[in-house]
Amino acid sequence: MINTIILDPGHGGILNGKYQTEGKQYHFEDGTSIYEGEVNRGIAFRLAEMLVSDGIPFYYACDLSHDTSLSNRVHYANSLVTNLKKKPSEFLYLSIHCNAGHGHGFEVYTSIGDTLADKIAETFIDEFEDSYKHLGITGRYDYLDGDKDKESNFFVLSRTKMPAILTENLFFDNPIEAEYLLDPTMRALIAGMHYDAIKKVIKGNI
Ligand SMILES: [Zn+2]
Repeated sequence: MINTIILDPGHGGILNGKYQTEGKQYHFEDGTSIYEGEVNRGIAFRLAEMLVSDGIPFYYACDLSHDTSLSNRVHYANSLVTNLKKKPSEFLYLSIHCNAGHGHGFEVYTSIGDTLADKIAETFIDEFEDSYKHLGITGRYDYLDGDKDKESNFFVLSRTKMPAILTENLFFDNPIEAEYLLDPTMRALIAGMHYDAIKKVIKGNI
């Protein structure tokens, strides 16, 4: 049963005015710039506040500003299993990203194959569908394995010992969705849907 969350906001943040990641950014013609790692952190920090207010234990897999390598993120997450003397199935590794490629909508990824993460991903997708409905934002699905989550060999999904999912929260290089991602109210909404899904996963004894 999941009782501890590992937050993994993807890429780096902005440190002393400098974005810590090469790429993973977009500059629109109107002069607006967006840095994925900063958005991922904006969402994760709000989610962390919600977890704190509810007393749900969580850890960050990465530095809050620097861009921690994927192997260090995974190594830290896996070390928690030993250090906290908990079972891997008591953790949820939650990687938070935004998408690129000028598409639209959200995606939820798990590792390849049917694992505990698939059930968790399904709970997140249901929550995201409900929360985004009023904005007309929909999910991008892959039904090849019979469910809506996408499956990938992403390092943080395949190398973590615990159930792991990765959320792609809209497209940062799509002008409409970039505007959403830069909006503090929308970041709080996205954090809130992650939080509600976490609560359902914990309550549902997944
Ligand atoms: Zn990313």
